[in-house]
Amino acid sequence: MKNLILLGPPGAGKGTQARTLCEKYGFVQLSTGDMLREAKKDETDLGRKVAGIMAKGELVTDEIVIGLIEKKLTNDENEIGFIFDGFPRTLAQADALGNLLDSIGQSLDHVVELFVDDEKLVQRIIGRFTCSSCGELYHKITKPPENAGICDVCGSKDKFNFRQDDNEVSLKIRLLAYYRDTSPLIGYYHVLNKLRKINGLGSVDEIQNNIRNIIK
Ligand code: ADP
Ligand code: ZN
Repeated sequence: MKNLILLGPPGAGKGTQARTLCEKYGFVQLSTGDMLREAKKDETDLGRKVAGIMAKGELVTDEIVIGLIEKKLTNDENEIGFIFDGFPRTLAQADALGNLLDSIGQSLDHVVELFVDDEKLVQRIIGRFTCSSCGELYHKITKPPENAGICDVCGSKDKFNFRQDDNEVSLKIRLLAYYRDTSPLIGYYHVLNKLRKINGLGSVDEIQNNIRNIIK
């Protein structure tokens, strides 16, 4: 098993890469952002509790996200490995992950840092949307669907989703949270000799190959 963390600011491409690695190689993606959005959609107590925090762009408490990850790690069947996407985001979460992996007899192999400058992050995030049926990612300017309103991949005319926190005000707060709370993890994993840096500005395929070379 290979377990890896994708680390990087919002818009660095963690979700896109994690999805592809799962489809191609059978990794199990554990994205706390997706889990929290799911909880919101299903209108669970948890979803209601975190909705406001997420819309603003602030971090949900460590206790909540650690609980979500713990549940998955102890229940999900998996032979290839886990990809943590958007978790850990604080030093407390990083410590908790180390302990959780220990408790199931596993360890962390690599932490892949995707770095992208802030200006590019803003361009990528403001204007992005997804197909609600298949999850394909689009962008108003850089990647609109070939035929307006119809998904290129699955043909759905159903609905495209914009994320509530993909607006300039929330994005600024998300970036602040990244530099304040999450970027210290770069030093933390560097010292543990797990950090691998990749330029997040390449094409999706280039970045995918770089990650493959790391985990081979
Ligand atoms: P991003 O594109 O900003 O990386 P995510 O989908 O990973 O977005 O997360 C969206 C929101 O969910 C975050 O802004 C935060 O409110 C919450 N969230 C997700 N993961 C965590 C985490 N590990 N710790 C705290 N909050 C989290
Ligand atoms: Zn689609």
